[in-house]
Amino acid sequence: MSKQKALKQLVEKIKADKISDALPFSSFLDDLIKNPDLFFKDIFKVFADMVEFYLYEDKTKKRNLLTLENADFDKIFYDDCEEPFFIDRLLANRLLKLTNVFKKGGQYGQIYLFEGPPGSGKSTFLNNILAKLQAYTHKKEGVLYQTNWKIDSLDFTCPEHDNPIIQIPKQYRRDFLNQVLPESEFKTKLFNEKIYEWVWKTEPCALCKSIQKNITEKENEELAFLNYLYAKPWTFDRQYGDGISVFNPNDMLIDKPLQNEILKKDLETYFKKQFQVIYSVWANTNNGIVALMDIKGTNVERLMSIHGLVSDSVHKVGLIEENIKSFFMGSVNPADKVHYQYTPSFQDRIVTIPVPYILDYNTEVDVYKHKFGKNITQFFQPRVIQNIARIIISTRLQSTDILEQWLEDSNQYLPWLDRDLFILKMEIYADKLPNWLSEEDRKNFDEKFKKELGREAENEGQFGFSGRQSLQIFNAIYTKYSKNEKLITMEMIEHFFEEREKDYQEIPSEFVSNLIDYYDFETLQELKESVYSYNETHIQKDILNYLFALNYESDNLVFNPYTNEKIEISTINFWNFEHIILGTEFTTRYAEKFRNMMRKDYVAQTLVQEVQIQGKTIQESLQYQFLYEKYTQNLKENSLNPYLEDENFKRAIQDYDTHAFQAYNERMKNDIILLLNNLEVKFNYSKEGAKQIVLYALEKDLMTKFVDNE
Ligand SMILES: [Zn+2]
Repeated sequence: MSKQKALKQLVEKIKADKISDALPFSSFLDDLIKNPDLFFKDIFKVFADMVEFYLYEDKTKKRNLLTLENADFDKIFYDDCEEPFFIDRLLANRLLKLTNVFKKGGQYGQIYLFEGPPGSGKSTFLNNILAKLQAYTHKKEGVLYQTNWKIDSLDFTCPEHDNPIIQIPKQYRRDFLNQVLPESEFKTKLFNEKIYEWVWKTEPCALCKSIQKNITEKENEELAFLNYLYAKPWTFDRQYGDGISVFNPNDMLIDKPLQNEILKKDLETYFKKQFQVIYSVWANTNNGIVALMDIKGTNVERLMSIHGLVSDSVHKVGLIEENIKSFFMGSVNPADKVHYQYTPSFQDRIVTIPVPYILDYNTEVDVYKHKFGKNITQFFQPRVIQNIARIIISTRLQSTDILEQWLEDSNQYLPWLDRDLFILKMEIYADKLPNWLSEEDRKNFDEKFKKELGREAENEGQFGFSGRQSLQIFNAIYTKYSKNEKLITMEMIEHFFEEREKDYQEIPSEFVSNLIDYYDFETLQELKESVYSYNETHIQKDILNYLFALNYESDNLVFNPYTNEKIEISTINFWNFEHIILGTEFTTRYAEKFRNMMRKDYVAQTLVQEVQIQGKTIQESLQYQFLYEKYTQNLKENSLNPYLEDENFKRAIQDYDTHAFQAYNERMKNDIILLLNNLEVKFNYSKEGAKQIVLYALEKDLMTKFVDNE
């Protein structure tokens, strides 16, 4: 494409993206009647709309454990951000809650402060939200309208950004809109809901009022000013403090009124009357956002001024009364709260939203990946990076008995958990309800408990390792061990923290060794899952053959119509099956007792009651289901047993992938190939990593580590 052509296309594109220019008031009304939802909005509604606009909700996924929605915040905090912010689900939930409050209205008169310790990234959090809000006001969906006057050759916008609709005199506004708007669900909301109260309550600013008055007098006709009234899109621009103004603690205070001398002169020439074009520093963000980054330095005084603005409905600028309605927000370090904490009048004006350090280990890992590259995972054994994040997060949690109150008996989990149950709490914060929890405990994880836990989380992450410290620690681990041939293991991590005494003291005592228990526990589950070849048809055949054989005397060869197989009835075959079903309880005597019980059941209950009378298939019978559950569970549980005592097994693993491996017996070879393959496919181990983890398990004798406690 030629340069000219490309430039021409660019111009067209920019034109297409541009929001229409100022509309005459009557066209604005036409649009508003067609699409009222798009036009009746204040800054809080724009904010809530913006969050919903960018939010990506995956409806196919199950609702999260602690959060309101299954929402993806990447579009707000990651995509097109100068510096991304990694929001964990607890904070995301708070932001959603705030948005829901705004959707209901009733937020004027408050100051929203995002409170977090240094290094929690709260300014990045705010900067990204503000950038997206600004971008949103440049979109057709997000545009706000402001009053614009075109009088003779004069063309200017209202310094307070009045919404054009409020130029209709307040006492007639309700009747007027009632007549002009068709009946709709929206109309009912507009007239009744708090979020639209501003439509009925707001007066135009002093300048707009005097323009109205002067035109009416000049033309000697009521509402003549509407012919000069336009609605102009208001696109926010933080750089000019237009719609969004961000103040830093070192910014100079401006408390002198601002004047527009040129406009004053022009208006006076045209109307031949005196005009006052005077407004405060807050005018440019009336109906917009004011953000104070950190409550210190000059921002302490600004907070006091804002407090005055939200407490009194009007304030004086020179002789003029000004009424500022903005979304006042900011960030604050806990230590800086002293500036307002002890002033009683502040207490019901300030809404605090905690922005703590990350409490979800997956989010913490996302930060590592962002800083050090996505390929860092290849240097670690699976789950080790997550465990570094868990160690970091353990310093940010509070020890309370809330989990004890939920769990029936937490002691049963202690072999693989820490006393504070931080490991369990972190799983929930990462949206996982572990499958090793008992049925009872999983059931008791109800709405009431979720709420309590959510509330408790608000007090966490205000202390412990900061984001910066976490990155330093991760960097130290990474540089120390990633040059090794071996993958980074939990043993290295344990060693690393023990050597760093100062950091080690920050970590709850014994947490690292408890975490290794948890790592071992999960490793064992992975191994069991991997060595077990789950073959549905095989299991079904085993059970059906066993049940059918119960009718026959030993030393028979019979045809089983359920499986289409010839089966040999022998005590050995009965035992093979009962060995698996009874597990450690197996003795020949007990097996015989069990078999008799099964036989009685099979004849009287299964065949007569269920198959003949109720018309079930054998597979649908209670007996079959009982055997199926027990059989599969025990198969998995004991899948490693044949190799526990086998010295050959360890050697075979070491020899895997070498010529020597061929010499081992077929069954063991097949099991090892299955085991190592499954570890790669199901649990993301590398070839080398899979071998390493099996050897680790054998060396630490993990197969017996949790046996006594199960
Ligand atoms: Zn105005």
